[in-house]
Amino acid sequence: MADAIVVGGGLVGAAIAYGLQREGLATTLLDEGDVALRASRGNFGLVWVQSKGLGAPHYQRWTRASAEGWAGLAGDLAAATGLDCGLSQPGGLHLCLSDAEMQERADRMARMKAEAGNHGYEYRMLDRRELAEMLPGLGPEVAGGSFTPYDGHANPLNLLHALHKAFTGLGGRYVPHAGVTGGRAAPHDFHVETPAGAFRAGVIVLAAGLGNAALAPLFGLSAPVRPQRGQILVTERAREVLPLPTTTIRQTPEGTLMIGDSHEEAGFDLSQKTEVMAAIADRAVRCFPWIARLNIVRAWSALRVMAPDGLPVYDASERFPGAFTANCHSGVTLAAAHARLLAPMIARGALDAALEPFSARRFGPGFPGRAAA
Ligand SMILES: Cc1cc2nc3c(=O)[nH]c(=O)nc-3n(C[C@H](O)[C@H](O)[C@H](O)COP(=O)(O)OP(=O)(O)OC[C@H]3O[C@@H](n4cnc5c(N)ncnc54)[C@H](O)[C@@H]3O)c2cc1C
Repeated sequence: MADAIVVGGGLVGAAIAYGLQREGLATTLLDEGDVALRASRGNFGLVWVQSKGLGAPHYQRWTRASAEGWAGLAGDLAAATGLDCGLSQPGGLHLCLSDAEMQERADRMARMKAEAGNHGYEYRMLDRRELAEMLPGLGPEVAGGSFTPYDGHANPLNLLHALHKAFTGLGGRYVPHAGVTGGRAAPHDFHVETPAGAFRAGVIVLAAGLGNAALAPLFGLSAPVRPQRGQILVTERAREVLPLPTTTIRQTPEGTLMIGDSHEEAGFDLSQKTEVMAAIADRAVRCFPWIARLNIVRAWSALRVMAPDGLPVYDASERFPGAFTANCHSGVTLAAAHARLLAPMIARGALDAALEPFSARRFGPGFPGRAAA
């Protein structure tokens, strides 16, 4: 028996569990074992705002709030655990390789600003000359790019480690090898079965990534998420310095370059494809020709947790009050929002009205969350 159960120990579940424990709820975090689908161990590490939420200004605001809260989260985690999440928020760039790409980007950024309204959205379109001054070794094909001051990057593995360590440091209970196989729901009374035993609590948060799709209906919720594969390349350490992260290339503090990342509809297939890796590398070399001299030392693929419209899904069950779900494909960026904004809402028992547009009800009837409403 705990006050709250969080199902899923990836970035989303760990951030929420840490936040709930901070709010004073005795929380049990149920997770699978080492071999699991876990986007949290295979992502690109951007804390990224630009271009998030075109046509959905509530998503832009939520992302901005998280990016603004990230330094506070990183500071709290460092103080609690001694772990450095490697946060750097110098702003970020999106590079364009042709005039057509540049025009498309300029249009997109102008629409983002218009949709942001009074909330504001600072950005600059940079021409080739300005970019070349910021980024030594820029390739001749780069036509320009966009800059926003909100962007940054972090070490996502340290973040995951720090969230877990801070959670257990506050007295939270982490149970691995405890994949939830079934459950029973009543208002404020939830039972789940796992290979590690049965667990019970008055609050349950489904944060099992792709596992949420099957779990949500048990609790009067809907999590229509599908896998979307992304492949990433990592180079050896470079002598050159990339001062700002870009949408597809970032340099770690150790000097390696991370180069990403594809968006492939391949179901649960985690294999890597040389043609995709070649396309990723080709674009990187066109942006920065010196990258061609570097060896690739690691490469992997991982599965994003993707809703039909690409936006997060947050819901509170109407049929079984006390049950919540959280799903997103930007769990690094949104870690601060999940720990510092979403978890306190869950602890209070209801999601704020500002999160209503993120409900799965937006997908219309046919989703269990809708049917229950
Ligand atoms: C290639 C790629 C690049 C990305 N780049 C970025 C980026 O730059 N910035 C960014 O913000 N985000 C990025 N993301 C997205 C980010 O990684 C995800 O949003 C985030 O990791 C999702 O976390 P999660 O906890 O929801 O899911 P996961 O990390 O998949 O974790 C789910 C957890 O739930 C557990 N689980 C599943 N089923 C059950 C069950 N039945 N019972 C108990 N536990 C269960 C699993 O074992 C796992 O631990 C990227 C993702 C990919 C794939």
